[in-house]
Parts: sequence; C-alpha cells; structure tokens
Amino acid sequence: MHELSIIYSILEAAEQEAQRHGEGTMVEAIDLEIGELAGVEISSLEFLWPAAVAGTILEKAACNIARPAGKARCGSCGHAFAIKQYFDPCPQCGSHWNEIINGEELRIKSLTITCAQPAVAAATDIN
Ligand SMILES: [Zn+2]
Repeated sequence: MHELSIIYSILEAAEQEAQRHGEGTMVEAIDLEIGELAGVEISSLEFLWPAAVAGTILEKAACNIARPAGKARCGSCGHAFAIKQYFDPCPQCGSHWNEIINGEELRIKSLTITCAQPAVAAATDIN
C-alpha cells in the first residue's frame, strides 16, 4: 500500500535524524507537510500510522499534518489559480497547460526530539 511505504520513508528519515542525537532519543512530535496534490490518502495514512510506528521512535510522537492547497499557474495566460486536480483547466482561458506551483509537498517539516541523556558540550582544554 502506497501510504504504508510513505510512513516507512518518514520513519526511516526520523530514525536517521534521531541517531545523530544519541541513544534513547525519542520523537515527541513530528510535523508533516503533505500537499493536496501529493496523491496521499490522509485518512489511510492516519489509519495505518499507529500500527506502523508501534515500537519505533515515532510510537509516542504527536503527528501533525499540514496540507498546502493546490495552486497552478497557467502556461498560456499566466493566471495563477487554485487547483484540485492535475488536469483542471485554467478558469481564465481554459488551457490545460498548467504548471503546479503549490500542493505537491511531501516532506517532514520538523521533528521535536527528546534526548535521554542531556547534551554535554565536548570538553575543551583551556591551558
Ligand atoms: Zn489561462
């Protein structure tokens, strides 16, 4: 399932990031940006999420999903307009030659991380 593989990609990226912060790091919150034109079923993603992240660093993470709306610029007349689907015509001139300028986002915007061990600055000799 498409949404499941997306969750695994998110998980992989989050684990890589957490590794840089050392053992016992947990993710407290994760902010995702999934555009309306990204082709992701948010309801399936939310349905699959709890089982997919169980036992991982994302298990207790609050997952916030922002959904940038679709926006396109007409390739014929230059008009920028809201778009719900890829092949919606330009409302001004009816052209289907559109450049998507917003709504294809599929990314992790931020991770809120807690470290088990407080970060200690590296010891530095001063003499
Ligand atoms: Zn147009």
